Amino acid sequence: MPYQTVNPFNNQLINEYTPHTDQQVEQALAKADALYHSGWAKGDIDQRLPVLHKLADLMESRVEELATIASQEMGKLIAQSRGEVKLCAQIARYYADNAKKFLAPVRYESSLGEAWVEHHPIGVLMAVEPWNFPFYQLMRVLAPNLAAGNPVLVKHAGIVPHCAQAFEQLVAEAGAPQGAYTNLFISQQQVANIIADDRVQGVALTGSEKAGSIVASQAAKALKKSTLELGGNDVFVVLDDSDIARAAKIGAQARLSNAGQVCTAAKRFIVQEKVAEPFLQAFTEHFRAVKIGDPLDETTTLGPLSSREALEGLAKQVDAAVQNGAKLHYGGKPIPHDGNFFEPTILTHISRDNPAYFEEFFGPVAQIYVVKDDDEIVKLANDSHYGLGGAIFSTDIERAKKLASRIETGMVYINSLTDTAPELPFGGVKRSGFGRELSDLGIKEFVNQKLVVVS
Ligand code: NDP
Repeated sequence: MPYQTVNPFNNQLINEYTPHTDQQVEQALAKADALYHSGWAKGDIDQRLPVLHKLADLMESRVEELATIASQEMGKLIAQSRGEVKLCAQIARYYADNAKKFLAPVRYESSLGEAWVEHHPIGVLMAVEPWNFPFYQLMRVLAPNLAAGNPVLVKHAGIVPHCAQAFEQLVAEAGAPQGAYTNLFISQQQVANIIADDRVQGVALTGSEKAGSIVASQAAKALKKSTLELGGNDVFVVLDDSDIARAAKIGAQARLSNAGQVCTAAKRFIVQEKVAEPFLQAFTEHFRAVKIGDPLDETTTLGPLSSREALEGLAKQVDAAVQNGAKLHYGGKPIPHDGNFFEPTILTHISRDNPAYFEEFFGPVAQIYVVKDDDEIVKLANDSHYGLGGAIFSTDIERAKKLASRIETGMVYINSLTDTAPELPFGGVKRSGFGRELSDLGIKEFVNQKLVVVS
């Protein structure tokens, strides 16, 4: 895929970026590997953490500039882009403040003697990242691994090269030594070559199931650890004792934020029969109220999809869902516009033999399922190849907690949409991937947890 900035609001080409040659890739690998073997990576963590503090400060001082780059490049609403940049600063600061504690030796009681586990970096990592949160996805990998001492090479998505370059420049400006973080405009074959290289010790990917399966196989073939954060088909459960107005408002936000292009977006709304009608009515009103427009316009509430291909793919999925018996309750079509706009859409009556039942819709398309009781909710929620996040709305917290523990996902939020914060682990099960990012768990994914015993 070429590395190009095309504004999704009007499909105008803004800039093209020159791909890196194999020779440049070799230089990047050599620099990263040299850094790994240096005192900077293997020595005291206190040398590395100031880079993260400085990076946090830099991002906070440039929120507007960075947010504008993201909005122009992948269509995120400007207010959401600002939020993403601020969240990145929080993640950098979180690891700057806590990594030392997370990586401190852990003592074990043992009959064999005095024992502890130390945490050491493992080497160069290859990260493959998507466009939907073009800064946050990068920071989730960089911050813990810079603290741990693992140099990171990154292949960002082809449609967000400006974000990729801006982030690399920020990390350098924050004082990271050469090789600590390198952005590469490279092909899939070059990614495969890097993964096979002996100097690389781990692979992290966020993206589609297809990309995850290919890249994780390459890592497995070379016997390297990988973490995968893939798609999701998250449920948003509305129990009959919920605050319906609030559930409808947050549900609409959970489906439409980032034009629906969020792995943890609420995609399947499971509503109890007793409240189905008032919920659907209130929910539809929120969909009706959206204002489509330029993501840089503060009054816009639904931006374009990230690319023309994404729009065409979503339109096909919705058409297929309807051909297979789903009812179009609201929306359902691309909007005639130079940009990649799709109507906010609500589908009902989706049977299990409809392909839509198992598919992830990466856009503003909600599916509504009406159910009788808690057992039916659990059965439907778990009848998915995915297992990323989920939300449950209820005024009976004990009931919601019981349901939460029965849902097969990596995350469940009660009375909130599935969210993210630096201190909370993020990741899934089943075909949503494996491994965790953020929190104390995220920083332990690519470290050597080395046991030392003194007898
Ligand atoms: P992809 O998985 O195709 O892209 C994600 C990243 O993987 C990009 O950097 C892409 O590069 C790269 N990539 C893709 N295939 C390979 C490969 N064989 N080897 C190396 N790198 C590869 O996602 P899409 O952008 O096509 O989005 C499609 C679907 O992916 C969505 O519908 C959604 O299900 C899922 N997705 C999930 C996200 C999440 O947050 N979990 C985020 C984005 C997408 P390039 O751009 O150059 O192709």
